[in-house]
Amino acid sequence: MVFRVLACAARRRRLDAPVMLAALAPIDTWIFDLDNTLYPARANLFARIDDRMTAYVARRLGLPHDAARVVQKDYFHRHGTTLTGLMADHGVDPHEFLADVHDVEMDVLEEDAPLAAAIAQLPGRKLVFTNGDKPYALKVLDRLGLGESFEAVHDIHAMDLVPKPHPSAYAGLCAAFGIEPTRAIFFEDMARNLAPAKAIGMTTVWVDNGSEQGPEPRRDHIDYIVHDLAPWLQHIMEAS
Ligand SMILES: [Mg+2]
Repeated sequence: MVFRVLACAARRRRLDAPVMLAALAPIDTWIFDLDNTLYPARANLFARIDDRMTAYVARRLGLPHDAARVVQKDYFHRHGTTLTGLMADHGVDPHEFLADVHDVEMDVLEEDAPLAAAIAQLPGRKLVFTNGDKPYALKVLDRLGLGESFEAVHDIHAMDLVPKPHPSAYAGLCAAFGIEPTRAIFFEDMARNLAPAKAIGMTTVWVDNGSEQGPEPRRDHIDYIVHDLAPWLQHIMEAS
């Protein structure tokens, strides 16, 4: 089992650059999750969305805040997203829910020129694969200065509302863009979302930045662990 811990720039000297190059040379498709992957979890943007989800559940189910929070998190852990649980149990309209919970201020996000430069250097196609919706994703990317960095955003609607980590989301992504999984690499902060990618042959990178995880995380489906994305991408390109 290939399992390497690749940390931040301070650890670069420990990396075995020729091995890195050989391992990643076949990659022609670079796939990135959005939230807490393309910006640091410490920005805490998702906390704002999270709070709006709690408020939505409270309104819709007529629950006090704390009880709504329990329901929300239960849906997240059992269904993959809060929305999926709300749709299954309460017939919630996904467009209304997604527009509501993503209506947040983006002032906590800062332009990330080093990440934009690092992504620009990657050879091949670059895609965003998110359980959020496309209008929100485009707002985030624009705010980060990554508006021109990706060919497309494959969002929750493109997944027919069946989110990561359901295998159909990954199959749909590959079908939509003609991706050969063994030539693709997937970056994601939720470790559990890497398992289906690994199962179909993708190289997997866990962006371990302290964001909320499910009950696991198991690590046997993770090829690389990265704490700071831009320096890591910069490094693998320098290695080539
Ligand atoms: Mg994420």
